[in-house]
This record gives sequence, C-alpha cells and structure tokens, in this order.
Amino acid sequence: MERRLTGISKFLSYNGRLILVNSVFSALPTSYMCTLKLPPVVIKQIDIYRKHCLWDKGDINRKGKCLVAWETACKPKDQGGLGIIDIQKQNEALLLKFLDKFYNRADLPWVKLTWSKLYANESIPPHARSPVGSPWWKDIIKLFPIFQNISTCSPNKGNSVLLWSDNWMEQAAKDTFPQLYSFTRKPKGSIKFFLNEPLEIIFSPLPLPPIAAEQLEELQDIMHNRHWDLNLNDIWSYNWGTSSYSSKKAYALFLKSPPDSQLFKWIWKSGNLGNHKFFFWLLLRDRLNTRNLLRRKHMHLDDYTCVMCSQGCEETSLHLFFECSFSKECWETIPISWDLNLNPVDMILQAHLQFGNPIFREILITACWIIWNTRNGIIFEHGQKNIHVWKRQFRDEIALVCNKARPSVSSALSNWK
Ligand SMILES: [Zn+2]
Repeated sequence: MERRLTGISKFLSYNGRLILVNSVFSALPTSYMCTLKLPPVVIKQIDIYRKHCLWDKGDINRKGKCLVAWETACKPKDQGGLGIIDIQKQNEALLLKFLDKFYNRADLPWVKLTWSKLYANESIPPHARSPVGSPWWKDIIKLFPIFQNISTCSPNKGNSVLLWSDNWMEQAAKDTFPQLYSFTRKPKGSIKFFLNEPLEIIFSPLPLPPIAAEQLEELQDIMHNRHWDLNLNDIWSYNWGTSSYSSKKAYALFLKSPPDSQLFKWIWKSGNLGNHKFFFWLLLRDRLNTRNLLRRKHMHLDDYTCVMCSQGCEETSLHLFFECSFSKECWETIPISWDLNLNPVDMILQAHLQFGNPIFREILITACWIIWNTRNGIIFEHGQKNIHVWKRQFRDEIALVCNKARPSVSSALSNWK
C-alpha cells in the first residue's frame, strides 16, 4: 500500500484519489478480510494510508489535517459521505457469512465438525458459552452479537437458540416473563433444554410463587401451540427478509444512519465532472479552504476578507458563493436568485423549485466551480475578476458537461439559453 500510495496519488485530483482509495486501497485487503479478522492495528494503518492518499496526495510525512472527519467520509454517498469503505465493518460483514453457514447448518465438513466436536452438548447454544476451538473460530463466534442484531431465529430443534434472551419470540422471553426468569437455574439454557428437562432442573426453588407459576403456564402454552419439527434444524433469517445471507446487505445495514440532506444524494448523480462534484460536496460540508475556514483552523493570514468585492466581509463560503456582489452579478446572468434568509440547504432547494428545469444542479455546480476558480486566480495568480470572462468560462464548462452527461441532461443543457 505504501509503495502504491507514494507512486501515483500525487498526480491525481481529489476525485481521482477518491477513486484510488475506493477501488485500490479498500480492495487490496478484501481477500484476506473474507476469511480472517483484521487486527485493529492493521485497520488503523490502512486508514492512515487511505487518509494520506485522499487528503495529502500520498505524502506520508505531511502532518496536515483531513478536510473532513474520516467517519463522515466513510458514510455512503447518499448519506452525506464519500462512500469510502469502512474496513472494520466490511470485515465483519464478510466474516458473518461463516456464522450464517454454521447456524443454518450448511452442508460443509467444517460446519459438521465444529458442531460435533465443540458443541455436542445441546443444552447451551454455542454463543452462550465462552469461546472454544481454534483462534480463527473464536474470532468468528465473538461476532455473534452483531449477527444477532441483523437476524431472527425460527427454532425447530431449538438447540442453537437461547430460551430466555434470543429473539425467537416478538420480545425476549426474559422481558416478557421477568418473574419467572428470576427463578430459572439455567439462564443460558437452549429451547431444547427447556423442552426436554424436568421443571426441578430448570427452576428453583419450587413450587413457584403465583405470578411466576402463571407466567410458566403462559410460556408452556406458547411452546405447546407452536409447531416443533424436531427433525429440522433451527432457521436463522435476516432483517432484509430472507434466510440467505448477503455481506453487501449486512454492510449497508451496519452503516445505516439518519438520512442527511437529500442534496448529498443529488450532487453525485449530476452530469458534472467528478472533480466538480467533489468540490461541491466540500462546499456543502463547508470544508472548502476559504479564508474563514483557515481562520477557524488557526492559520494566520494578514487578511481574512473577501477578495472579490470591496464590502469588507469575511470570506465565508456563504458570502463568497452567494452574498458577494460579484457572485450576485454572476447568478443574475443565469438567472438564479437566492433567498438569503433561508438556511443554505433550503435556499438551494427553493431556488431549484423556482428555476424549474432539471439541469439546475449541473448549472449550479458549474457556476460555483467557476466562481471558486476566479477567486483562486485573484489570490494565487494576481488575476482579475471580470463578469464577461466568468460568463465565457461558464459557457465553456457547460459545453464540457454537455459532452459528458447522459443524453437527456445533455440535450436539455444544449437547449438551455
Ligand atoms: Zn465578497
């Protein structure tokens, strides 16, 4: 990884490096992760390389800060992130397929061997014991709590299911029958154990007090009314509705977080160049290196004001792209008008509605990109701002998007005056 990192990444843009991170660095350890649990220190090192690649152009000696928190970058693109693979979660999702095979009794030699050698005693399910067996198997069985979160069991023999704590009823039995549970001698007993053993072994002291006895009756009713096919194995099925395990679906479930603004999903689908989309993503996250951000990062500049106007305002992203007199002039030529009283996300959504043309986002992203380039030209190359130059650059850039975008966007853009 280190060799590849320093070799290519310095020649690439942010978006190129993002692709490199996702398609090369995240993919390199995959075959290993399919079988073995990566030690945390290895995951940490991989993350360091990936961060250096994305934010520091592969320079492993640079001590710069990441523009965006790594946790945010690891979120899926439609949830506001960059879709970088979370190695630990990916590793877990890949390894859970062994638990799937084990609990659903796949017809495989290792599954049969593990059940017969390690778990011949069926009164306690495998996950309720302290881990036994090879280091590899111990790593796998320790993932059971994660497995449990995404699965439900429908018991038959009942030897792989905890009577009291596993989710084979709507609510765990220990919560449904708390008084009865407090009298059990075997909180880690399987359903099979409960069905086969006499009450004296399961509960103590007997007789049970009235409330617990009532609950025992209820539990026995549930057990008797259920159809137990003792020749069949227990079936574990998954929250996505089938009993076939999918690492991809499990990974998606692990990453599920409250949805971020719909704008994030929206930008990645636009017909703009990847680079411009990445830039706009930074803008939406307010992580563009404006003078205001540099001040927030405690970097000393002689002047933090906007260079595009003489209003004397601090150069925040909101000012630079929307409030500044020069950018206002730019937006008028399109025309798009912004309601600056709204918060930025609502402001964009409202302008989108008013604009009434599906190519709004391509135009918005391109226009912001040219404003940013003009600003950089003034600061770093002693350039001038000029609305006619801006217009020409904007038109050229839109023509490029026309060539690249899918046909519907492309024709809408070329018809747009
Ligand atoms: Zn300004």
